[in-house]
Amino acid sequence: MSSEGELSRYDEDVALMNQAFGVGGSLTELERTAVREFLIREKLERFDNAEMKYEQVEGMTYSEMRSMLERQKAVRSSELDSLMEGGNENFRMRVCERLRQAEQTGEFAINHCPLCRKIVRTALAKQCLWCGADWHQE
Ligand SMILES: [Zn+2]
Repeated sequence: MSSEGELSRYDEDVALMNQAFGVGGSLTELERTAVREFLIREKLERFDNAEMKYEQVEGMTYSEMRSMLERQKAVRSSELDSLMEGGNENFRMRVCERLRQAEQTGEFAINHCPLCRKIVRTALAKQCLWCGADWHQE
């Protein structure tokens, strides 16, 4: 369950991010690659911060993760680099920006509540946690 605090305040960027990166979200292949790499980097940081105190994080050893990151580098491109530039938060904002533009040109539909027009939890959601609307029957 979400905390009340999370539900009481609507932030369109956050809502769009949650939808884009959540169940049924619509990331491109390149964006998925970026997500994977950010994830690996984050895990490696946990090792680094722990000063190698742990033998494994989520079932993987430090060297396994390092080699995974190396394999990822093989698929690196300048396109991916610019997508990831400035860190995870900036990357996520870029994805939101792309989706907003795609919606404006009609290429993509962000899942909005038909009643209050807020961006709902997931791309597949048929109910709105903000106003309580439910459109399962439509
Ligand atoms: Zn609503």
